[in-house]
Amino acid sequence: MKKISPSILSADFARLGEECAAMEKAGADELHIDVMDGHFVPNISYGAPIMKSLRKVNKMYFDTHLMISEPLRYAEDFARGGADRITFHLECDDDPMAVIEKIRSLGLSPAIALKPKTPAEAVFPYIPYLDMVLVMTVEPGFGGQSFMEDMMPKVRAIRDYADKNGFTALSVQVDGGVDKNTAVLAAKAGADNF
Ligand code: ZN
Repeated sequence: MKKISPSILSADFARLGEECAAMEKAGADELHIDVMDGHFVPNISYGAPIMKSLRKVNKMYFDTHLMISEPLRYAEDFARGGADRITFHLECDDDPMAVIEKIRSLGLSPAIALKPKTPAEAVFPYIPYLDMVLVMTVEPGFGGQSFMEDMMPKVRAIRDYADKNGFTALSVQVDGGVDKNTAVLAAKAGADNF
């Protein structure tokens, strides 16, 4: 089933609760929560306390995208903040299997994100343990970039690998520059979460 997961990064943070309620009313399936630490990516966005406040007023599925260097250290904070899925970057400082196990132990759904320069093959060994793979369609950490159509073969390679190896339940998410036109391209390549 295809899902729409709008990022709260484009919200007016003074009215975050209202804006997320509006997303829910508009039919969004999940809320995509982009966390940036000023280290893994140059910018800083917000952390677990903001999420915890939002959790009190919103019951949607919290799709948490950690663009941070040390997901292992902070996974528990985001679990307490109300995360449902935790997506971390394969390019982070931690051992991916250790992070996956940590996320599972917290009762949450694990996913791995890939920066544009990271090849599809790098995530293949982890696919049996994941619920989702996120393919970045912009360089992470900055807003307003345009969709990288050249990432579509990567989406296709991950979808095909998962299907051929019996992991048909794996979701593939695209993140960055997604609109009604680019979402069609991503869907054709096998993405199901936008
Ligand atoms: Zn994101």
